[in-house]
Amino acid sequence: MADGTETESRKLLGRLREEMASEAAGQERLDRITHLIADSMRSEVCSIYLFRDEDTLELCATEGLSPEAVHKTRMRMGEGLVGRVAKSGKVVNTADAPSAKGFRYMPETGEERFSSFLGVPVQRLGEKLGVLVVQSREAREFSADEVYALEVVAMVLAEMAELGAFVGEGAALSPLHQQSVQLTGGPAQEGSAEGHVWLHEPRVVVTNPIADDPHRERERLDEAVEELRVGVDKMLEISRGGDTEQLQVLEAYRMFANSKGWMRRMEEDIARGLSAEAAVEKEQSQARARMEQVTDPYLRERLADLDDLSNRLLRILTGQGKTDSADLPPDPILIARNIGPGDLLEYGRALKGIVLEEGSVGSHATIVARALAIPLVVHVGRITTEALNGDHILVDGDNGVVHLRPEDTVVSAFRDKMAMQTKAQERYASIRETPTVTQDGVRINMTMNAGLMADLPSLNNSGAEGVGLFRTELQFLIRNQMPKRSELVAQYKRVLDAASDKRVVFRTLDIGSDKVLPYMKHVEEPNPALGWRAIRVGLDKRGVMRMQLQALIRAAEGRPLTIMFPFVAQADEFREARWEVKKTIERERRLGHVLPETLDVGAMLETPSLAFAPQKFFDEVGFISIGGNDLKQFFFAADRENELVRRRYDTLNVSFLSFIERIVERCTISDTPLSFCGEDAGRPVEALCLAAMGIRSLSMRPASIGPVKSLLLRSNLQEVRKIIADARHRGEQSVRPAVMDWLRAQS
Ligand code: PEP
Ligand code: MG
Repeated sequence: MADGTETESRKLLGRLREEMASEAAGQERLDRITHLIADSMRSEVCSIYLFRDEDTLELCATEGLSPEAVHKTRMRMGEGLVGRVAKSGKVVNTADAPSAKGFRYMPETGEERFSSFLGVPVQRLGEKLGVLVVQSREAREFSADEVYALEVVAMVLAEMAELGAFVGEGAALSPLHQQSVQLTGGPAQEGSAEGHVWLHEPRVVVTNPIADDPHRERERLDEAVEELRVGVDKMLEISRGGDTEQLQVLEAYRMFANSKGWMRRMEEDIARGLSAEAAVEKEQSQARARMEQVTDPYLRERLADLDDLSNRLLRILTGQGKTDSADLPPDPILIARNIGPGDLLEYGRALKGIVLEEGSVGSHATIVARALAIPLVVHVGRITTEALNGDHILVDGDNGVVHLRPEDTVVSAFRDKMAMQTKAQERYASIRETPTVTQDGVRINMTMNAGLMADLPSLNNSGAEGVGLFRTELQFLIRNQMPKRSELVAQYKRVLDAASDKRVVFRTLDIGSDKVLPYMKHVEEPNPALGWRAIRVGLDKRGVMRMQLQALIRAAEGRPLTIMFPFVAQADEFREARWEVKKTIERERRLGHVLPETLDVGAMLETPSLAFAPQKFFDEVGFISIGGNDLKQFFFAADRENELVRRRYDTLNVSFLSFIERIVERCTISDTPLSFCGEDAGRPVEALCLAAMGIRSLSMRPASIGPVKSLLLRSNLQEVRKIIADARHRGEQSVRPAVMDWLRAQS
């Protein structure tokens, strides 16, 4: 394209379209395309490199390099100039390739004769497919216009690849989305599931990347953008007077929808021969590539907004992507980049499994998935680009592994494992009504954690002796506005009705840190986990606390009531909160409401400071429950939400177990009931060691009760205590190896 005109570019795209329509097979088509591009760009060389696996590129077609090198020359991601383009997702344009950074001489290609090099990534919506290269003998940098033209061609190649235009022999030409892949992420809810992919946001397929009437395409783009703008304005209208943060997001949306730069780039793409949807997708792909490089959270969010807008625009232009849950495949496994708790609840128990590209172990979607006992794997890179609706998929929530389009051998091994799990479930069901008494006669109270109405059926079918932790904030988190007191009364009543005479420990609102209410003013804090959260918010915002206490008292309707305050760091916080309970009781009495039959008010021990409170506090408090998730993160100074450090320190670390023992001693002196309600209570070996340290009440996810009980029933706590004491005496850091050896010897 020596003159760099748009007409020239359109001509090339027109010829590419003819290629797409031709009968040619994958390899032949690729060969003809390299010839077309070299000819049109007036360059001696044009080569197409495609990925043969995640990390290796293969020369798949060339005009100008040695034909013997095709399917032989390979390079790793980041290796040589081609690898550099693939890795960075950025263009490399140089007049003197042999002296450019990263150049690697490949004798089989005979490329040393070529001086200038222009490589552009072939990518589709963040999915890297390959690299398109032109080279020429003359030492010159390619003009901006030529770079742009090659990017447009690369975009069309990406669409053609997606449509299966290059399928041929060998790994690099194997059809996309048909190979079986195994992806690994983080386990967030255990269990295994087999089913079919259901994409929360399905991929839009652009079947017509090239168009020959730019005027018509511009009109289509303008109409779609207008529809998008009207939609955003409507959302803004509805949100006025509402939450300011949501408004800010929508304002940012509107800014993008009206962004001249964005429009201009898409119009230029169209002028060069792309269809309106291909132009939207090209800009979106590039924005996604930029997003990968940006670390600033504000900028990332803005780029994510743009991505979201582009998706909406693509759906308007193609009419695709409007899915209906009525179309769910059999045994649906939900795949999403991320999902909010509200959306997840809408799918509810229809889902067999969930796989998220992002997500986090402590997020609310995770909490909901756990409550619904749906196997969940998070942090599964590439899952939304690899999976197609309806694909066969296996989810291993115990190990955080996902098999997409699995081979038969993997399927049969997986089914065997699932059958074993079913057997274990049957065993747990058989001990459901058996009280948990260890071999040396110690009775352990087994209760469950809950927070959603969906948890209530578990009260009966898990064998829980009560609810040791009811996380009341979950009801607040899954809504768009503050619930009314009357709604809370109705909910708490349902919980107490379902529990019948079993005890329910209602924990007051535990918000802040990672639990952000969408309708409450968000406060920017440098360290939210150490910030304004839980009881600290309650004491500063008495109105909300009072409303919740009233709702609890009214829901009890004369039945026993147990209230627990979260995150108490010093005795006075508890005293103030309990005083608030007393005042509320007084008020309810005056208003003529029936008062609870008994009232038990306790505190969660989640900061080391409370363990060292004056003995008087232990005498005063109704009961204590150790919130191990928080306590551990402060004890070890390791953020529970941070994947880099989350698993660094073991619960069975001698220091931590000694600390737990110390808390047990303090509670024993004052006869204060003590329980443990963090995640560790639901892990059999951890629970066993906690019991050995003297914890007599454990609260955990309902699904954990069977496995924990089963181990406790066959263990002797005295022996475990001795194993721990010996390991400590030997100066070991963690008692895990010693305890595991002992357990193995037992079985
Ligand atoms: C804990 O911190 O251990 C706990 C049970 O509370 P949450 O996980 O809700 O913070
Ligand atoms: Mg906590």
